[in-house]
Amino acid sequence: TKIRVYELAKELNITSKELIKRISDLDLDINSHMSTVEKEEAELIKELLGSEVDSNEKNVKEDDNIEDIEAIEIEENIVVKDLAEKLDVTPSEVITKLIPLGIMANQNQAIDFDTASIVAEEFGVSIKPIDIEKDSEDIGIDLDFEDDSKDLKPRPPIVTVMGHVDHGKTSLLDAIRKTAVTEREAGGITQHIGASTIRIGKEKIVFLDTPGHEAFTTMRARGAQVTDIAILVVAADDGVMPQTVEAINHAKAAEVPIVVAINKIDKPTANPDRIKQELVEYGLVSEDWGGDTICVPVSARNNEGIDELLEMVLLVAEMQELKANPDRKAVGIIVEAELDKGKGPVATALVQKGTLRVGDVVVSGTSHGRVRAMIDDKGKRVKKATPSIPVMILGLSEVPEAGEYIYVVDNEKKARHYTEIRKEKIREEQMKASQKVSLDDLFEQIQSGEVKELNVIIKADVKGSVEAVKQSLAKLETEEVRVNIIHGGVGGITESDVMLASASNAIIIGFNVRPTLTAIDISKRESVDIRTYRVIYDAIEDIESAMRGLLDPDI
Ligand code: GDP
Repeated sequence: TKIRVYELAKELNITSKELIKRISDLDLDINSHMSTVEKEEAELIKELLGSEVDSNEKNVKEDDNIEDIEAIEIEENIVVKDLAEKLDVTPSEVITKLIPLGIMANQNQAIDFDTASIVAEEFGVSIKPIDIEKDSEDIGIDLDFEDDSKDLKPRPPIVTVMGHVDHGKTSLLDAIRKTAVTEREAGGITQHIGASTIRIGKEKIVFLDTPGHEAFTTMRARGAQVTDIAILVVAADDGVMPQTVEAINHAKAAEVPIVVAINKIDKPTANPDRIKQELVEYGLVSEDWGGDTICVPVSARNNEGIDELLEMVLLVAEMQELKANPDRKAVGIIVEAELDKGKGPVATALVQKGTLRVGDVVVSGTSHGRVRAMIDDKGKRVKKATPSIPVMILGLSEVPEAGEYIYVVDNEKKARHYTEIRKEKIREEQMKASQKVSLDDLFEQIQSGEVKELNVIIKADVKGSVEAVKQSLAKLETEEVRVNIIHGGVGGITESDVMLASASNAIIIGFNVRPTLTAIDISKRESVDIRTYRVIYDAIEDIESAMRGLLDPDI
């Protein structure tokens, strides 16, 4: 004998909100569209409002506009369960409303916005799509949020080892870790998680495992800066080499201080002074020569000078006054990630600000999830990760990319929403990037350097034609562009030919064969250029003119 407010509102042909507003004077316990009223009360309300509603048709219209502004924001594709939550009803109530629309959904299924709005209307609620632009700006806020200087606490330095190949980067990292092994607490087996923490007395230093500047550059390309100090390894028996210079330039561009490790001093041919001399040319003047670059002679092989090197790193770190606020929602950077057979997607993050905890909901690129567990570089399970400390995170929905930010958000719904935005952005970028090659603009693409290879798929009615075309096309190769026949076969142009062309950015050439209707459809969607000919000579001529920018646009 009870009636829901939304049902009553529907009878009166007004929205639930409108109804609640109008009866707010009555002493009824009504606050949402799901509240119930007794049948008698409903009758009373109908009587009271019935005439008023009719005569106030205009008012209702005006109020509708207000309703619009107050509409609930939902994602374009919303899962039934989430919609129910937004509408403040149970999933089964939503499911029931979907049945008359011919949709047999379960609570985990997503429905589109139009369907969702019909359902919402049934409950007297109006909805609108989330303003993606507005929300994507919100993402930045947390990352840029400046901490109060009084909240800042010292954090360990994050160090990268750089240098020319074979100068001893890997050996030095090994030697450093070995030194640390003797000093670290018992237990735990070293885990390769992409970065490791070593302890020197009361201090800690975090080393990125990947030697070289690749990690450095990918991260910087994404605008992320993880490294605080770079150790530049130069072999004392070799000298400054091309990658040494590259490393110096990368560190300088990132304004990261350099500590030079002059390695292999155990070798009889070692000449540390010559290295110092050569480094001057690149603006690195050793301290004992009156400059401000710390140079430490070491032997990674004999474990010589390692302690001193680490001491110097700590000294430089101290001068940098590295600090972060550990008491805020965590923001970090992914340094390594992969799909683990047993654990699913795993990612190692270095927390930059805040403290990451098990149970936190995180977002990283298009990946999200609740942190199920965290494992440190000693293989131990940990409950939290403070600034600079690397941890492997379990519980992500997919493998994020190295160099992506990872940050804590309020709840899973927000996390999903942010990843949706990210996916949309990536799709847009891919759309731009996947401008397919076509004969019409081949010349321009060659000129601008976008195309260096012309991939071609050949389909013909007889095998002989395929071979003939292959040979003729090979002769067209120029210095600017290579011609690759990625596939050739007998028969019509099919859907799978088009998909292959799309995936490998190829054009399709057909001789005395036609594309199927599906193939045509897909080629339009994937913007794959299909050309059909009767004579081989015509095809060769077309491609040749296209390569030279002479193709008649009408063909
Ligand atoms: P990376 O390419 O910079 O990572 O260099 P590696 O660490 O792989 O070292 C290259 C080679 O130099 C290896 O054969 C090492 O054994 C050797 N090496 C590294 N450090 C030293 C050292 O201090 N003394 C000597 N004699 N050889 C070293």
